[in-house]
Amino acid sequence: MTPNSQTTIAKNLIGASEQQLQEALASIGVAEKQLALRTKQISHWIYIRGATQFSQMSSIGKDLQRSLEKNFTLDRPEIVTEQISIDGTRKWLLRFPQPDAPAVEVETVYIPESDRGTLCVSSQVGCSFNCSFCYTGTQQMMRNLTPGEILAQIMVARDRLADYSGDNTEAKGIFPATGRKVSNIVMMGMGEPLLNFENVKQALLIALHDDGLGFSRRRITLSTSGVVPGIARTGDELKVALAISLHAVRDELRDELVPINRKYPIADLLDACRKYPGLSNARRITFEYVMLKGVNDSLQDAQELVRLLAEIPSKINLIPFNPWPGTHYECSDEQTIAAFARYLHRHGYSSPVRATRGQDIMAACGQLKSETVKLS
Ligand code: SAH
Ligand code: SF4
Repeated sequence: MTPNSQTTIAKNLIGASEQQLQEALASIGVAEKQLALRTKQISHWIYIRGATQFSQMSSIGKDLQRSLEKNFTLDRPEIVTEQISIDGTRKWLLRFPQPDAPAVEVETVYIPESDRGTLCVSSQVGCSFNCSFCYTGTQQMMRNLTPGEILAQIMVARDRLADYSGDNTEAKGIFPATGRKVSNIVMMGMGEPLLNFENVKQALLIALHDDGLGFSRRRITLSTSGVVPGIARTGDELKVALAISLHAVRDELRDELVPINRKYPIADLLDACRKYPGLSNARRITFEYVMLKGVNDSLQDAQELVRLLAEIPSKINLIPFNPWPGTHYECSDEQTIAAFARYLHRHGYSSPVRATRGQDIMAACGQLKSETVKLS
C-alpha cells in the first residue's frame, strides 16, 4: 500500500494507507515483525475478497480476528437508494455517517458497456466551482470526501454487482484484468478531484496497488475542470489517464462556462496538458466538450478545437448537454452535433460523441447532486 504522512488511526480500515494499517495493527498489539505480512493479508481480504467482517479472514488467527472486530470496522456507507436505468446504468445514493456532524450523501454511477463496466466516482460533496451548465455546481460545496469514502463507493458497487473473485484469484494475488464488472474507474462524479488531491491520491494509490484493487493506470481516468497545478501532480504522483473538461475554445466563453478559467486560462491549461508525462498515440488526453445549443457548437468552434489540440495526443468526447431543473441551457440539435462530430472525424478524431446513459434516472454527466445541505 501507499506510504502516507497522515498518521491518524481510522476506525474504519477501508482507505487506510499501508502505514495507517500497520499503525492500526500495532495499536492492538500485533508484533512489529508480523506487521508487513498481516497488512498484506488484511488488504487482500478487504480489497480482493471484499470481506465485510473480520471473522471472514480465515487466514488470520481467531484471536486477531476478534481483536480487529472489537476495535475496527469495514463498514460500507448506507445505500439510501439504488436506481437502475432502462439501459442498465445504475445509480446509488450513498450516505456516510460522521461522528459529530450530520451524515453526507453522494452519488455513484455504474455504466455497463459491451467491453467494459465504468464506475463514475465522486470526490467531494457538492462542488465549489459553479460551472454554469453543471447541476452539481448548483449544490453548495460541503466537504471533501475521505480516502475511505472515495474507495467505499467502489466497494459498494462491487458488493452490489457481486464483483469479487473466488479462491483462485486470491492465490494469484491480483484481480484478473478482464472479466471484472467494474473494469474502469472515472473520477467524474460530484466534485473537483484536484481540489481534494491528497485524499483522491490516497484512494487511487490503493485502487492501483496489487494488494489493493489492482487496477491498471490506463483503467483509471481523472477528470478536471482545469486546476493547472494539480495536473502536474497527477502526472508525477498518480500517472493515471487524464480528462479535461474544456467545453470552450475561447477564454471569454470559457470564463463564463467554467469560471476557474479566469485563474487558469486555456493557454496555461493546454501547456500543462502538453507536459503531462507518458503521452503517446496509445495514451491520449481526453478533452470533454459539452454541446450547448448556440453557445459553443458552431463549425468555427470545431475548427478552433482541432487547431488548439493539434500538438497534444488527444481524444475528444462530445457530451450532449444533459438538462436539469432550472437550467437555461439547451442541448445542441442532433444535426449540429453530427456536423461537429463529422468535422472532428475528418480531422482524425474517431467516434467523438459520448452516448448519453442513465438519463431517465438523472445519472448522466452533470446531473449528479445530493440533498446534503449545510445547516446554518
Ligand atoms: N469536476 C470535474 C469532474 C466532474 S466530471 C470536471 O469538471 O471535470 C463531469 C463531466 O460532466 C465534466 O466534463 C462536466 O463538465 C460535464 N458536465 C457537467 N454538467 C453537464 C451537463 N449538464 N451535461 C453534460 N455534461 C456535463
Ligand atoms: Fe464542479 Fe466539474 Fe461541475 Fe464544474 S463541471 S461545477 S468543476 S463538478
